[in-house]
Amino acid sequence: MPPTERDYYAVLGVPRNASQDDIKKAYRRLARQYHPDLHTGSKKADMEKKFKELNQANEVLGEPDTRKKYDRYGHRWQEAESYERARQEAGADRGGSDRGQGFGGSQGFGGSQTQDFGDFFEGIFGGRSRRGGSPFEGFVVQGEDVETTAQLTLREVLSGVSRRIQLSQRVPCPTCGGTGLVKKSPCPTCGGSGTQTETRTIDVKIPAGVQDGTRVRVPAKGGPGQNGGKPGDLYLLVSIEPDPVFQRQGADLLANLPVYPWEAVMGADVLAPTLTDPVRVKVPPGSRAGGKLRLKGKGMPTAAGGRGDLFFILHIVLPPTISEEERKLYDELARFPHPDPRADLLRTANRV
Ligand SMILES: [Zn+2]
Repeated sequence: MPPTERDYYAVLGVPRNASQDDIKKAYRRLARQYHPDLHTGSKKADMEKKFKELNQANEVLGEPDTRKKYDRYGHRWQEAESYERARQEAGADRGGSDRGQGFGGSQGFGGSQTQDFGDFFEGIFGGRSRRGGSPFEGFVVQGEDVETTAQLTLREVLSGVSRRIQLSQRVPCPTCGGTGLVKKSPCPTCGGSGTQTETRTIDVKIPAGVQDGTRVRVPAKGGPGQNGGKPGDLYLLVSIEPDPVFQRQGADLLANLPVYPWEAVMGADVLAPTLTDPVRVKVPPGSRAGGKLRLKGKGMPTAAGGRGDLFFILHIVLPPTISEEERKLYDELARFPHPDPRADLLRTANRV
């Protein structure tokens, strides 16, 4: 079955960074939609074609291993893989003197097989395998996607932040062009390996309001492509540090706000923290423990360009120490008749 020319990700309608689970779900959904048994007439043939294409895409992308190869080499990953294997075998077998001739040479693969192999790859890769002996020579290789993590505080999420990323990668040696040889001797720059470690610095802007676990994609900043292949993408996995004061719930923030009993009873004007400067907050008279105060627009940025809210949850606390005079006031308070605060608790416990 010849491979479809459509990109498998497009066939499944998922982004290139979709999880295996997303791929499985997309496949199941589309398989139900395209299944030829569900269609009749002129539509049936069309759906059969789509169904076939979908199954091809799923066979490759549904397996992490083959998916990786597809990401790297595209539709011809199978040929590319045999090419890589043959190249490695050939590399072990070949002497330095005939390297420059590449796969079309008369000795490379040991006798008569060489020519066949050369033809094979000419057919597939348009004859580009004849030049040079670079490990990557002969076909277009897309650069690998690279993922790295960025740790952010909530305050950085609030404003958006720029991160400097350092990436170390193996790239073809510029001196020998990846062949490992200069004038038939091992390349002095790379010692004959054909590759070099290159460190790149990339500044990545992380937008305000980003969620924990988001992947920020930086197009074309991943591994370099070969022979005109496109570079891979860089993905920045955002990890947000837990904040000691604020808890994030979507675009809203939650924080505990301790108040004294008399502040809850009489109401009070108190200083409360936000992600930026503290603000004055009115605790209304008659507030209860667990009650919420809402500060509109003091939460996190939303995708729509607004801000979520900040909620304070009231905690009624006692002073660390009290004076004799205060104790007397409590004593006086205790003399007033009040309903038993545990009445509900006892009733409920006895019922069950
Ligand atoms: Zn070199």
